[in-house]
Amino acid sequence: MNFDIVDHQRNLLILDRDDTIIFDSGYMSGSDLYTVNMALVTQLTFAKKRNLLISIATNQSGVNRGFFSLDDCLRFNLRVRQHLKDEFDIEIGLIAICPHLPEENCTCRKPKTRLLEICMEMAKVTRESTVFVGNAQTDFECGANAGVTTYDVNNHEHMNSLNSWIEKSNDNY
Ligand SMILES: [Mg+2]
Ligand SMILES: [Zn+2]
Repeated sequence: MNFDIVDHQRNLLILDRDDTIIFDSGYMSGSDLYTVNMALVTQLTFAKKRNLLISIATNQSGVNRGFFSLDDCLRFNLRVRQHLKDEFDIEIGLIAICPHLPEENCTCRKPKTRLLEICMEMAKVTRESTVFVGNAQTDFECGANAGVTTYDVNNHEHMNSLNSWIEKSNDNY
């Protein structure tokens, strides 16, 4: 990472997608049906007030399994982004996708770290200025592997910690 271009003014919140910011039933990108995690949306509303950047890092092996196309996946992500913007005025930046199967041994499939690194590079922030929120063991391992503080969306204490982190963020705003 080129630290000359690090944005020291802002913090980055990276979210897992499925069963973190939205709830689904399996490989869903071809489907119209999902619901938004309102508890997390409330936190994201605070995050917006603190001028945080928000990204999503998501494993979507359904693409390479042939369950849905990459285009379907991208379209679905755009719809989720638009929904969050229109209904809650929450802006999602980069949505980083791993379309690979485990056996493809890519560098991006969580718990590998490439998706988080791409999000941090695009936002020009360091790992110290970043937290990751997920729901699965792969997310927690991914965060640990990347050296990024990681919270379990289903853990009440973790969500309190996330809230404190958001409140402390970007104090100069
Ligand atoms: Mg998930
Ligand atoms: Zn991958």
